[in-house]
Amino acid sequence: MAIATVNPFTGETVKTFQALSDIEIEQKLSLAQAQFLKYRTISLSQRSQWLSEAATILEQERDRFGKLLTLEMGKPLKAAIAEVEKCALVCRFYAEHAAQYLADVSVQTDATTSLIKYQPLGIVLAVMPWNFPFWQVFRFAAPALMAGNVGLLKHASNVPQSALAIEEIFTRAGFPEGAFQTLLVGADKVAAIVEDDRVKAATLTGSEPAGASLAATAGKQIKKVVLELGGSDPFIVMPSADLDQAVQTAVTARMINNGQSCIAAKRFIVAEEIADQFIDRLVEQYKQLKIGDPMSMDTDIGPLATPGILQDLDQQVEISVQQGAKVLIGGHALRDRPGNFYLPTILSEIPKGCLAEHDEFFGPVALVFRVPDLESAIARANDSPFGLGASAWTQDQTEQDRFISELEAGAVFINGMVKSDVRMPFGGIKRSGFGRELGREGILEFVNVKSVWVK
Ligand code: NDP
Repeated sequence: MAIATVNPFTGETVKTFQALSDIEIEQKLSLAQAQFLKYRTISLSQRSQWLSEAATILEQERDRFGKLLTLEMGKPLKAAIAEVEKCALVCRFYAEHAAQYLADVSVQTDATTSLIKYQPLGIVLAVMPWNFPFWQVFRFAAPALMAGNVGLLKHASNVPQSALAIEEIFTRAGFPEGAFQTLLVGADKVAAIVEDDRVKAATLTGSEPAGASLAATAGKQIKKVVLELGGSDPFIVMPSADLDQAVQTAVTARMINNGQSCIAAKRFIVAEEIADQFIDRLVEQYKQLKIGDPMSMDTDIGPLATPGILQDLDQQVEISVQQGAKVLIGGHALRDRPGNFYLPTILSEIPKGCLAEHDEFFGPVALVFRVPDLESAIARANDSPFGLGASAWTQDQTEQDRFISELEAGAVFINGMVKSDVRMPFGGIKRSGFGRELGREGILEFVNVKSVWVK
């Protein structure tokens, strides 16, 4: 894949970049390693000051960075600006809380002193996707840098300007040269970088094949990996739910980022008793969505990030319909204009064995399933290779307890949409990956938890 900015709204190639040569990659690796040996000794309060400065830059230049994200991957500008603000938040969060998370823990043993210490690992490689070009990177970088690691970023090939902007932000914030570097390289270079002795760990957010490939290489080298992969999150609506709230949130939860989010609600599992009402209202809400230029502040749905994503989604819907699923609204790409537009779509009456039962749909397509009762709702929700998030809507305490304990997911939200929160761990089970980002657990993924025993 060429490293280039291609405007998803117009199809125009805005800027192309030359991939780094092997010599340039080597120079960046040596710089990172040399810097790590110094950076790990820098005080937490100094790192925290730099990270706070990065937050200030993000806040002050949110509009400029927001426009860059929209230009490169097509998300509506208001969402892009909100993404930049959330990056500032994660920087401020770890600037404030890292010292507490990384503080020595004293343990009573037969020694005079026994301690748990949290020390940095070294160079961590981050392989990141285009869907949240800033957020995915900052939620890795903020805790990793606070913990004393240095970061190398291999970003998705369609967001090179975002990738370079992130390095620039950390440099301007005061982080020393080599503490965080962007590598403009294709996916074909990742294995060799992971195999390099100086690289101690890796994190990847993206598709299952990419995650499996990176984890296989890291496994052979006995290196730590965090994977945040796909999801087909259930959004369960039971008869006691507040339907107005549920419908409104269902639209937001499905359409976030033009439908291209791992934690977007994708499978709508609705109790038979209220299914007609829920579906009718959902269709009505869909009709109100404004599709158009993502740079316009009142656009709800912009183009998909690449022609490839559009083509994959189109094909998934086409096959599902051939297999018997029914289109309630939408159901095709918008071919009468440039840009990677796909109509907001709802599929229902999805038969057993249909691809829509288990595939992830990475775009604005809702999959509706009717269920007779709580038991079937839980079974349907868990009948997925993925286990990232789950949202369930009910006022019934017993049902809430059952969902919390029985849904197979890294996060369960009751009467709310699944979202990441800097204060809470984020990640999945099953084929959605392993490891956690954010919160205390996130910063502890890339540290050496060292037990110290002194007689
Ligand atoms: P990819 O997984 O291909 O891309 C994500 C990142 O991984 C990019 O930096 C990519 O580089 C890199 N990459 C790709 N293949 C490999 C590999 N074999 N080894 C190491 N790194 C690799 O995602 P796509 O953009 O192709 O999207 C396809 C699907 O992935 C989506 O439809 C969705 O299901 C899922 N996805 C999930 C995301 C999430 O948030 N969990 C985010 C994005 C996608 P390069 O760009 O150079 O190929």
